[in-house]
Amino acid sequence: MHLSRFHRVKLTHAPTPLEYLPRLTEYLGGPRLYIKRDDCTGLATGGNKTRKLEFLIGDALAQGATHIVTQGATQSNHVRQTAAAARKHGLRVTALLETRVADGAPEYYNNGNVLLDQIFDASIETRPAGLDMNAELHGVGERLRAQGERPYLIPGGGSNPIGALGYVVCAQELLVQANDLGLKIDRVVHATGSAGTQAGLVAGLEGLNSGIPVLGIGVRAPKEKQEENVYNLARQTWELLGVRGDLRREAVEANSDYVGPGYGQPTDGMVEAVRLLAQLEGILLDPVYSGKGMAGLIDLIRTGRFGKDENIVFVHTGGAVGLFGYRELFGSPLERA
Ligand SMILES: *Cc1c(COP(=O)(O)O)cnc(C)c1O
Repeated sequence: MHLSRFHRVKLTHAPTPLEYLPRLTEYLGGPRLYIKRDDCTGLATGGNKTRKLEFLIGDALAQGATHIVTQGATQSNHVRQTAAAARKHGLRVTALLETRVADGAPEYYNNGNVLLDQIFDASIETRPAGLDMNAELHGVGERLRAQGERPYLIPGGGSNPIGALGYVVCAQELLVQANDLGLKIDRVVHATGSAGTQAGLVAGLEGLNSGIPVLGIGVRAPKEKQEENVYNLARQTWELLGVRGDLRREAVEANSDYVGPGYGQPTDGMVEAVRLLAQLEGILLDPVYSGKGMAGLIDLIRTGRFGKDENIVFVHTGGAVGLFGYRELFGSPLERA
């Protein structure tokens, strides 16, 4: 897997740590739990989009782009990281924020990622839920082109084959770390949304013949739809990499039992997972992705789905800035003394 053929900029503080979670492991009574700290990728409070943006911004610069256009939900971590990456490389950025969560607290619309987008001076346009956001993205691209800009469009979550290369890199990095530690990884688990993270991990881990299965915990789409999205993108990434043979369909597994009422809608399991990781390990998860991913992992452990002697790596994809959009779930205002 010859990744240096692709245009790329350096954004990630890599390798991100691979750490043991002793107190969570003990609390749950095994399996042994490890965490890959992709919340610590270093750009604008970090997260998984940073790895994808190394290749996406690299490609944009190679094409002579002047302006990055992307889209996401109001509290999109992807938009925040894209705004930072674009600014760092002298590019303007326009973000379309879909009001996918319409019943949030006021902080959901003015704090967390929204605040950071504004500090990066992204031009923000909002859209109601349910539009074809890809078509909206292209519409804005055309408008900017007519104004003399050279727009580069990044799909939601940075999830296309170029972006997914970032998670092929993560798969390589993880295997090197496991080898150095003498750690036999039995399984990788993480939150899956726009599919690029899982597609890149699967293409990388399968392409390197690691024998390590990946389980994506869905945050939006039903299982069949999510697996189809991941598999299609993983196969395109596989082709872009030039790996021989076919990618096995069975290499893609998603579980969408932990979405709850919908994307960005809190669940009791998510709130428990956020509190547990904070109070046992001093680690902040997020309410939309990693909190639900960890809630899924915890429930699957409690219901005996994994062997007690397995080594499981949870990929922490970041997003804790989103907690500030969900303050009322976790905290209450102090009285002024
Ligand atoms: C975007 C995101 C994910 C999901 O990754 P995809 O590549 O979109 O599937 C998971 N966690 C966090 C915190 C994210 O921002």
